[in-house]
Amino acid sequence: MAETTNFIEQIINEELEAGKFESRGNKIVTRFPPEPNGYLHIGHCKSLCINFGVKEKYNGECNLRMDDTNPAKETMEYVQSIIDSLDWLGFHYDRILYASDYYDKMYEIAEKLILSGDAYVCDLSAEEITATRGTLTEPGTESPYRNRTVEENLQLFRDMKAGKYADGAKVLRAKIDMASPNINMRDPILYRIARATHYRTGDKWCIYPMYDFAHPVSDAIEGITHSICTLEFEDHRPLYNWVVEHSGFPEPLPRQIEFARLNLTNTVMSKRYLKKLVDEGKVHGWDDPRMPTLAGLKNRGVPPEALKDFCNKIGVSKANSECQYSYLEACIRDYLNANAERAMAVLDPLKLTITNYEGEEELDFEINQFKPELGTRKVKFGKTLYIERSDFSLDPPPKYYRLKVGGVVRLKSAYIVRCDGYRTDEGGNVTEVLCSYIPESRSGNDTSGVKAKGVIHWVNAADAQDVTVKQYECLLCDAAYPGQDFSERMNCDSEHILQGKAEPYLAEQMDKSFQLMRTGYYKTCTDEDGFCLSEIVSLKDNFNK
Ligand code: ATP
Ligand code: MG
Repeated sequence: MAETTNFIEQIINEELEAGKFESRGNKIVTRFPPEPNGYLHIGHCKSLCINFGVKEKYNGECNLRMDDTNPAKETMEYVQSIIDSLDWLGFHYDRILYASDYYDKMYEIAEKLILSGDAYVCDLSAEEITATRGTLTEPGTESPYRNRTVEENLQLFRDMKAGKYADGAKVLRAKIDMASPNINMRDPILYRIARATHYRTGDKWCIYPMYDFAHPVSDAIEGITHSICTLEFEDHRPLYNWVVEHSGFPEPLPRQIEFARLNLTNTVMSKRYLKKLVDEGKVHGWDDPRMPTLAGLKNRGVPPEALKDFCNKIGVSKANSECQYSYLEACIRDYLNANAERAMAVLDPLKLTITNYEGEEELDFEINQFKPELGTRKVKFGKTLYIERSDFSLDPPPKYYRLKVGGVVRLKSAYIVRCDGYRTDEGGNVTEVLCSYIPESRSGNDTSGVKAKGVIHWVNAADAQDVTVKQYECLLCDAAYPGQDFSERMNCDSEHILQGKAEPYLAEQMDKSFQLMRTGYYKTCTDEDGFCLSEIVSLKDNFNK
């Protein structure tokens, strides 16, 4: 057992001690219940960590349940994307289940509620129902259809199912309390008529259960012990309990527990908004590397371990808050710093010629200083190299330790060079830096006695690969404008494309994360133009610059 216990686990511990689940062999069962109406996002990862964390801690079960009772927006593509994301994160569910498989059972329960006098068919329109529901300070008014006989209700409900009424003409409502202080308890709707083709049940049904009915019933059918959800459902809990208590399920009944959802600065975390970004072409798709979707993060090269680490570190709480995006980035950086191989690429190449060097040699390059067991690999070195344009200055400020005329610098894992001059084009732009190297200064065997304060990265021109470099910013300008619609906060310039030069080693290793020395963490990949390096996260936190 892990040493930390969150408030959910405290509840479970108390119930176990009180013997609540003895009749079930003390098996704790949770579920992750996404609606397949979009791709999962980071917020879902938090929910996954909690639900699968409980499974692991209590040696219990966790099911993946598609909460697919809203035919209009659900698709097989979304189902598959959800399955793929759980696989990617390494969450192994015990069963994959579909709420839509319970339509018959739900219908049966609805008839039982009618028979027990706990539900009635109401002819009020949606607007009328809203208008008669009352307010936080005033009770609602009872529907004129509230006192229909059981027989009449049963017949009308069967006729609803048989398609005798138009969409919206009638609903089935729970008969609870129109004066309840909790508005959710004022005769909520259990079933509505909707002629919509469901992606799994097709046109079999023209009535569909409402979320507040379908969800608790699904939990109870599956024997869920703890139905963990986000805080906005707290006010629905009395209704959740009412449904499971009135539906004839055996004890112990599932218990709803709410936690605070994850909110992150500089991004949107709602499938509805994310879908809008995709539909309006603001991003390249659900898996665009800038998207906070799990597919986007995977495509970005974010290690699943880093994402789970982030979700576990922010913890489980009952108070809503907003988490800094930079904290997620810090978790990604920590993981990659410890685990990613090092390599060199130049994003804005400037030619450097070593006038006193001839031929070619292979130098040893350390793969990851935190993983000495990985050792070194060979990197070619020659007369002509590329360095970063920003590593050479004609007008250096004080304490400039990179290249300047007359100055020395160490080329990473290679030699110390001295800058003797440079060439320009007609426009005065520097096109080439001319250097001489100090043969005794080779890294690992430096007997030159020359001190170079700066180290810069480089690539060997003879075997350098042209590479398209993609850099990203956050999709949203930060929350300086709270409450504004996300479309007004869109960062319209969140993708930058550069043409660089990379070590050939990088081009041989597709879909792998690297630390590019002094530059950042990048993933190797290809697009229609060939070899690319796609930014995962910058090397340092430059988020607020
Ligand atoms: P969205 O508003 O993005 O559509 P949702 O709540 O409608 O999200 P569901 O598919 O219903 O998405 O969510 C599946 C599970 O994930 C639910 O239990 C939900 O409470 C949880 N969840 C969704 N968003 C977050 C979040 N930001 N933080 C934590 N848990 C979340
Ligand atoms: Mg939802």
